[in-house]
Amino acid sequence: MRRGGAAGERSFHASPAFLVRAVDMGEADRRLSFFTREAGVVSILGKSAWKSRKRFGGTLQRYVLLDIVWTEVPGKIPVLSTASVSASFWPIVEEWERVRHADYLLELAAEMFPQEGPKPKAFEILLDGFRALTAGESPGKVARRAEACFLGIGGWGPDLSKCRKCGRTDSRRYRFLPAEGGLLCDACATGDGMTLSLGAVRTWRALLAGGGAARERLRVPDGIEEELQKVIPKYIEYCLGKPLRSLGGA
Ligand SMILES: [Zn+2]
Repeated sequence: MRRGGAAGERSFHASPAFLVRAVDMGEADRRLSFFTREAGVVSILGKSAWKSRKRFGGTLQRYVLLDIVWTEVPGKIPVLSTASVSASFWPIVEEWERVRHADYLLELAAEMFPQEGPKPKAFEILLDGFRALTAGESPGKVARRAEACFLGIGGWGPDLSKCRKCGRTDSRRYRFLPAEGGLLCDACATGDGMTLSLGAVRTWRALLAGGGAARERLRVPDGIEEELQKVIPKYIEYCLGKPLRSLGGA
């Protein structure tokens, strides 16, 4: 008897996917990082991926929704078999702010949900974000909504219902404490954390609480969006324990 039947251990996988990163390996191969609906983050070898237009039809780019198929053999890096475009989001590449924010959404999904296994909710949030950017919605607002959704399904809270110390719910200003995932009112604040107006707190609460449709209808005034932009990514960095690359210095 021959040993093991190694060929039988080969497994095939398919999923909708977004390309997150591509790194050259040798002359023609690339290591491709995808965020997939069915398997979360997967790192796959694209053999001659960028030269073989016949094979992949020039589809291996960012800002498109792909259908990919890959094969796995235990102990080896999975190999991409096919990739095809299932939806394009071309308006994203027409504007640098949209590109930046699309990169940010991809990074959030991949960094906040790195565990193996199906990620249908996170994938849907990512897809919604791409659709909204394509439709011309303000990139900042798309990002704030996606952040709130990602934080929610990841179980990171935060708890913005009241001051953690005295329970006050209507202080004009709060300090947000990333380490505690909560707020202190003006009276209880010690200088730690980041300032948030009551309006920003209320908007963040609504973003965290709302169902999909309610979130989309929510009006986020520019001033409040700017306030939240200084705080929410910092909180996510705290949760992840590392800096985010794509909006660095923003
Ligand atoms: Zn208080």
